[in-house]
Amino acid sequence: MRADCHVHLDKIGGPHKTVPPSVEMFTTYARREDISLFFVIYEKDETLARFRATGYDMIPIYWERTPLTPGIPTSARAVKLHPYIERYQLTRSNVEPALEVAREKNLFVFIHTEDREPELSRGRLVAELARAYPGLLFVMAHSGSYAPPNVDYPGSVPIQDGRVRELVSEAVEVARRFDNVYLETSILASEAKSEILAKAPVSKLLIGSDFPILEETQWASLQFQEKQLLRFGLSEGDIDQIHQNARRLAKAFQVNRA
Ligand SMILES: [Zn+2]
Repeated sequence: MRADCHVHLDKIGGPHKTVPPSVEMFTTYARREDISLFFVIYEKDETLARFRATGYDMIPIYWERTPLTPGIPTSARAVKLHPYIERYQLTRSNVEPALEVAREKNLFVFIHTEDREPELSRGRLVAELARAYPGLLFVMAHSGSYAPPNVDYPGSVPIQDGRVRELVSEAVEVARRFDNVYLETSILASEAKSEILAKAPVSKLLIGSDFPILEETQWASLQFQEKQLLRFGLSEGDIDQIHQNARRLAKAFQVNRA
């Protein structure tokens, strides 16, 4: 059983030009990669319903673009925050109303971490929230740095290895220190990033692809990411455990459904 913990259903928005996937694209991807559970990012209930009709297990993550005035629908089991696209720094005062709703409704919080402008959203900023909200679970999307390959990643210059190492190491440290912080891997084009994540606590890892970004390249493949982690020392059993982490979260956050 495989879980992809970072998939987009609705449009992402500037600077990304990636168009949202069709249901057919999604099912082709799911079959090709042999995935049965998805953490899906959406904004419209109608989109979620269309993809849910495929029958795959899904954890809906609502993209909250205005965390100071949240409008999180009852379909959500998690909230996504993207400080880089929405142009704010990840501080408690900038996101507190959204976190309060997450606490009330028992949602987890999925946060884009950023390497183009790290001061907007990096491990140590997530640590501050994790400390302030010990009862909330936080997932760091990209594990501190997306670390893009040398192809069209919107708005990106390739990120230098030294910066990738610094940001990913910081994120791993935060996941070690706080029980309520997890790491999502998308993507593993970078060897430095793969190497550091292969030494992170296996119980805190989630594999994600960021589909449909980079779809049709090797980096958007969940199985490619598994290979990278295996190459840097994880066992097949570890990979299985990582997918079980996703299953465990899915169970935990589907209870008390609104
Ligand atoms: Zn994404």
